[in-house]
Amino acid sequence: MTVQSDALLTLDHLLDTVQEPNGREVIDPATGATVGRTRVGTPQDINAAVAAAKQAQPNWAARSHAERSDLLNQAADAVEASAEALAELLSREQGKPLNGPNARFEVGACAAWLRANAGFELEPEVVVDDESGRAELHYKPVGVVGAVGPWNWPMMISIWQLAPALRMGNTVVLKPSEYTPLSVQALVHVLNQVLPADVLHVVPGDGEVGAALISHAQVDKIMFTGSTKTGQAIMRTAADTLARLTLELGGNDAGIVLDDADPQAIAEELFWGAFINTGQTCAAMKRLYVPEGLYDQVCEALVEVAENAPMGVGLDEKNVLGPLQNKQQYDIVARLVQAAKDGGARILTGGDPDESQAGYFYPTTLVADIDNDNPLVAEEQFGPALPIIKYTELDQAIEWANALDVGLGSSVWGNDVDLCRKVAARLEAGTTWINKHGAVDPRIPFGGVKNSGFGLEFGLEGLKHVSVPHVISW
Ligand code: NDP
Repeated sequence: MTVQSDALLTLDHLLDTVQEPNGREVIDPATGATVGRTRVGTPQDINAAVAAAKQAQPNWAARSHAERSDLLNQAADAVEASAEALAELLSREQGKPLNGPNARFEVGACAAWLRANAGFELEPEVVVDDESGRAELHYKPVGVVGAVGPWNWPMMISIWQLAPALRMGNTVVLKPSEYTPLSVQALVHVLNQVLPADVLHVVPGDGEVGAALISHAQVDKIMFTGSTKTGQAIMRTAADTLARLTLELGGNDAGIVLDDADPQAIAEELFWGAFINTGQTCAAMKRLYVPEGLYDQVCEALVEVAENAPMGVGLDEKNVLGPLQNKQQYDIVARLVQAAKDGGARILTGGDPDESQAGYFYPTTLVADIDNDNPLVAEEQFGPALPIIKYTELDQAIEWANALDVGLGSSVWGNDVDLCRKVAARLEAGTTWINKHGAVDPRIPFGGVKNSGFGLEFGLEGLKHVSVPHVISW
């Protein structure tokens, strides 16, 4: 079957489609203006969505892999056809600028992840084949996937959850964050132009609606991205239904610069490793360890990049950094930078928000001469403030990097890649990048260790995590 998507959708059309006139007001975090009004779902809506997804799942699973891949490619086409309208809505609702590694980049990633998942082939694995017999490991769909998402990359993370799930023959019910419900509903509207009925649902609502989804007896797999605290609550609830879990819970990623690094050469990558999406990224660099001998040079090079990265309203084409998405997150960043100041740290740039400004803008902030146990280092800031910690012994830096109870990403920066790899091997994290940070790729497995969660996303490993194994042996 071939289903053609509508022609290009405009922002007004998208908003008209997903808005509910008497719904809850959604605010642009850059201006305080109303973006639109969202439907607010209820636990009953979850029940209806899960029932419909449950009913649709066997037929979806019965289609061939080629057919599902074809539909995912068509879904990517539909996203690309409406990319500008989606990016504009995302920019207004989430706050992120159109340009830089932000709204247009996020919509582009949605299409890329759909296409990558369409292209994967998860063949049965032959685990034994000898005179004693043969055993094959097959992967089958789990059933209904319940996906709960955050507000920082609302479209892209929804795609991370739904693309592999659909590819494997599962049906999906999404619950977006109450901060970014319109973006995810608009994305689902676009995808549902080409997907068969009831394969993909979205129910906007608060934590209670999320709780109804993850506790539903007919949800077989839960994919969650958000805070550790909510992840723990979800895990407790899942004990009752034995739903399978993938938990992506953020972290406090360390970057370690080695003695032989070239500060000028790495400054731009270092900056965006920390400030991508204005720091509101699970696998952004959140603390940077720099050897004494390079400390001043790295600080100076970072200040130069920071002061040339315009921050402001997302729809203004010149901006590459935006506001914090919500007041709660703004307050966290403000509190942690204040803690750094109180601890005697030196503010290299930023650190002094203009309270009279509309929107949750916190200036790009670099903090030097900060103790490793300061709250800005020890707690996840999830915003545009990077502490730069001086070290004298590499072993000490590695010990500091590993000392926290989270482990999502990490990075090592230097000219000698062999040395970087040796240091990388000693870091406790789901991913360690060399001379880059946070560079996710749909082909490369991604997930956390320690309190950053468990379960892998992306690539063939990602497909396995939305499947159940079935061994056939003779
Ligand atoms: P939460 O973990 O509270 O929210 C994430 C999602 O879970 C939202 O959709 C939320 O709904 C939903 N939710 C809340 N309670 C429940 C529940 N009991 N059962 C099921 N779903 C539930 O994160 P916050 O948005 O409050 O952000 C807090 C912190 O989390 C940030 O400061 C940051 O450190 C971290 N974070 C990490 C992210 C990551 O990428 N790993 C992304 C975002 C935040 P709703 O919001 O609608 O109430």
